[in-house]
Amino acid sequence: MAQLMDGKAVAARVRAEVKAAVDRLQREHGLTPGLAVVRVGEDPASKVYVNGKKKAAEEVGFNSWELHPAEDITQDALLKLIHQLNEDPAVHGILVQLPLPRHIDPDVIISAVKPEKDADGFHPLNAGNLLLGRPATRACTPFGVMRLLEEIGCEPAGKRAVVVGRSNIVGKPMALMLLQKNATVTICHSKSDLRREVEGADILVVAVGVAELVKGAWIKPGAVVIDVGMNRKPDGKLVGDVEFAPAAERAAYITPVPGGVGPMTIAMLMRNTLEAAERTLR
Ligand code: NDP
Repeated sequence: MAQLMDGKAVAARVRAEVKAAVDRLQREHGLTPGLAVVRVGEDPASKVYVNGKKKAAEEVGFNSWELHPAEDITQDALLKLIHQLNEDPAVHGILVQLPLPRHIDPDVIISAVKPEKDADGFHPLNAGNLLLGRPATRACTPFGVMRLLEEIGCEPAGKRAVVVGRSNIVGKPMALMLLQKNATVTICHSKSDLRREVEGADILVVAVGVAELVKGAWIKPGAVVIDVGMNRKPDGKLVGDVEFAPAAERAAYITPVPGGVGPMTIAMLMRNTLEAAERTLR
């Protein structure tokens, strides 16, 4: 039976580390990191996510601001807001909560955030630097997954890592971070022979958004299984992309949903913002 990877507990440790660093920054440099979160319109899920981020920011001692323009804000007006945040020295990290309304191009907005203030690690410069193996602000969710692997002493070098999903915010950066740690990485997507690839995975990360897509019987005995997916079933239950109970019977470690990757994403956002503030001292 697999051991649970307790993302809630690890995330609390990461936040405590960030808080200790914030105390030090304030004491030694009079600097308080600032995080600005932009939430456009009334997407209910975005509201929940942003509240979680604001709460974490307050807990670690950041200044935090939520900017909440209306759904019908024009792209130009949103760009103007981003430029203001870019120029504000109290703001070290900027996060634009996705999805944006349809009339706004997320690529344009993400590219407008100054790369050094890009708390999410989505800016093309940060994504490109990750690809090149250079220092970069890392996308929070895969960065959190790497920390979870570290916590259980899982060393990716030489292991077969399979990442299911190739989005720019989870799957691709996840694959690159595992590659950087010398795993042999396979990226799967909607055209892959999923079962065949999953069956060979020592480390499996699934980020698709389809409830229980990966069957427990496909899991290699002793694998480490990280389930990024968050899906609401008709009965209201939140489940991942992996069939949890049968997968847990075969895996060595598995993340629960909820309480696995989700809390780590927020914790790594705090870490990225802290590092952005620290960089202003150099
Ligand atoms: P996207 O919708 O951007 O990407 C989904 C990926 O899954 C695509 O690459 C798609 O392939 C692939 N896919 C779809 N169907 C299949 C299939 N049948 N077999 C194999 N691959 C398939 O999703 P995100 O990366 O943004 O998010 C994925 C999940 O992770 C969602 O449930 C989301 O809610 C969750 N999430 C959780 C976070 C957390 O903090 N816990 C943070 C971010 C996301 P193709 O490219 O071929 O279309």
